[in-house]
Parts: sequence; C-alpha cells; structure tokens
Amino acid sequence: MRKNIVAGNWKMNTTVAEGVELAHQVNAAVEAATDLKCEVIVGVPFTHLTAVKQVLTAVNLAAENCADHVSGAYTGEVSAPMVASTGAQYVILGHSERREYYNETNAMLKTKVDLALEAGLKVIFCCGESLAQRKDGSYFDVIKSELTESLFHLTAEQMANIVIAYEPIWAIGTGETATSDQAEEIHAFIRGLIAEQYGAQIAEDTTILYGGSCKPSNAPELFAKPDIDGGLIGGASLKADSFMGIVTAF
Ligand code: PEP
Repeated sequence: MRKNIVAGNWKMNTTVAEGVELAHQVNAAVEAATDLKCEVIVGVPFTHLTAVKQVLTAVNLAAENCADHVSGAYTGEVSAPMVASTGAQYVILGHSERREYYNETNAMLKTKVDLALEAGLKVIFCCGESLAQRKDGSYFDVIKSELTESLFHLTAEQMANIVIAYEPIWAIGTGETATSDQAEEIHAFIRGLIAEQYGAQIAEDTTILYGGSCKPSNAPELFAKPDIDGGLIGGASLKADSFMGIVTAF
C-alpha cells in the first residue's frame, strides 16, 4: 500500500532563523493534527538542514539537491553522504529549475539518484514538461525519457526508495494549476510506465506527487484522483498555514 506525502520545497528562501521558525510551526501543527492521512516533509536549503533537523519530531527532512560526486575537489558542492549526515531522510532531484538553470541532464540525474540511494537517502524525483512540449504534444515522450534515462536502471528494491513528482513546468510558480484531469492523466501514464518496467505491484506501491501551484483551494480535488498521492509544494509551503491547508486536504 503506497503512502500519501505532502512535501514542501522552500527553494532559495528564508534565512536559517526564519527557516527554523517555519519548520517549528509546521512541526507543531503536524504534531497537533489528529488523523493525518499523509507523511509530511520539508525540503530546505543545505545551510538549514542541521538546524531544522533539531526542531522536527513529526516531519521528515529533505535537501533540495545533491552533488553528482561523493567527495573531493568540487568547490561549493554538497554530496549525498553529507546530506545524509545531517539526518535528512530525502533529497529532491531533477527539479525543473535545476534542469533549466544548472543544466542538469537525465544522465547527470541518474548519477545523483545512484549516489543518493547509496548514501541511504530516499529520492523525490521530479519530471514534467514545458509549455511548448505540452502544446506540441511531445509531453508523454519527454516524461518517459526523464524516467527511463534517470530511474529505470534501478532494481525493484531500489525503486521502493523513489517518490516521483510530476511537475508541469508551466504550472510551477505561475498560479496556473494543471486541472485534476490533466494531472491524473499523466500520473496514470507514469504508473503505467513503472508497471511495464517493474510490474504491477511496484507500480501500485510507488507514491506519485503533483507539483505546480498547488494550494489549499485546489489540493482536495487533485488529491481525490486515484493516481495522485499528494503534492510537492513550492510557494504555498513558505507559510505554515497554507502548507497545513494542503497537508490536511486528503
Ligand atoms: C515546485 O517548485 O516544486 C513547485 C511546485 O512550486 P509552486 O508550488 O510554487 O508552483
């Protein structure tokens, strides 16, 4: 039985003190909530991991990236073992902002996925198409390539540590959400690809999140779809109230 997850992606926002305060508020709200139907994760900047970890008791922690090397002369990089040593359980990989602004390719992400899993981290792996790809109809192929080239070399056991986030780039931070039917179509497609590669049981067990202008007002309709198992939340994760409005949307 797969689990529902709501994960925040703070991106490059908050100072350490602000981040600790936000994490504290989210953690307190999650602790106080009864009958929550999802795991809650906050994805925070590298600088915040250790301090935020100290205030989390009911919420899991993610980094937003990790290096494509384990250690060595890579000034400014942060490796998967370093992330794991902070106590974080997850790393977000393949976000469209990393693909677009930092030239992350499917091949590079394959390496990052391997290193993250070797370090004992679970991976929230992002995929999704641009507006042009949505319009020209190539989006199924784009998503298939992203998954095939970065994930489908993994063993079935390793796939148990992968969460997939479908994030149409045209919906990220734009206020424009995919309709629940558009999102469900892609989530079902992704689950079908996993079934072809790994069999029906692993496909059933894989958590697939939606990301792109998800907020308390649209989360219930999205999360009601059979193949949408929660959300990866950008803007709305920066305030405890709006994030909790999504966490409690199931
Ligand atoms: C994201 O960046 O992962 C995201 C979904 O952002 P937003 O919720 O702000 O669209």
